[in-house]
Amino acid sequence: MPVGRVTLADDARLAASGARRLGEALADARAGVAFTGAGISTESGIPDFRSRDGLWSRYRPRDFSFSRYVASPQVRVEAWRRRRELWSRPPRPNPGHLALAGLERAGRLAGVVTQNVDGLHQAAGSRRVVELHGSSRFVMCIGARPRAGTPAGCGFRAGQDWALARHEAGEADPGCPDCGGLVKSTAVSFGQNLFPGVLDEATRLVRSADLVVAVGSTLRVHPAAGLPAAAARAGVPLAIVNDEPTSLDEVADLVVRGRAGRVLSAAAVLALA
Ligand SMILES: [Zn+2]
Repeated sequence: MPVGRVTLADDARLAASGARRLGEALADARAGVAFTGAGISTESGIPDFRSRDGLWSRYRPRDFSFSRYVASPQVRVEAWRRRRELWSRPPRPNPGHLALAGLERAGRLAGVVTQNVDGLHQAAGSRRVVELHGSSRFVMCIGARPRAGTPAGCGFRAGQDWALARHEAGEADPGCPDCGGLVKSTAVSFGQNLFPGVLDEATRLVRSADLVVAVGSTLRVHPAAGLPAAAARAGVPLAIVNDEPTSLDEVADLVVRGRAGRVLSAAAVLALA
């Protein structure tokens, strides 16, 4: 990536210049990998966790934990109520998601590794998506009394619509139809272990990359944020698109300060021209 090391602030002219540099890097890429966090989905109306208006300003993190979900019927009832409210108006992919899908179709990106659970990359048309923290599009049986942050269910799995329909029919905390165990979204909660194999798959994809573009993440949540860090250490060019500083700005080859949708769509237009 012939960009040198540069940080571009979110003034319109400089952001445009950053998008141009990113576009040039993507035009040369043959196996780029995008690494995405909550910031790519805020433009779709999904709140992030850590910013000033993020979820943590309104909810307590421990209320989202795996062990609380297992232990407390009230927590599960509240989780389903909130989920039904969120999905009554399903979020839609924004120009950032669509740009990444277009870059994959054009052979510039090999895939996306995401910290998000919203399924918007797939909805935008991305084909290879590694979801580090699972997906809220599905639900699974986690057994009656799973321990140590690991689901221990009977294998029952369904689309989220199944659970929302049960909720609509009056079950505030729908249980497993096969074994009576607890049913939970396949999104990974706090205190829950990542699903087996997912981190390995993401690591393989990132290791084979010729460019890593980290988008909409402050790159602070581990182990996920270790992936772009490892890529940078291995000499893979790293570009960062985020509207606030990240923990890897110092080691990145290019930092573009700006909104993901605007920067990525401008860069994709240039890369695919
Ligand atoms: Zn079950």
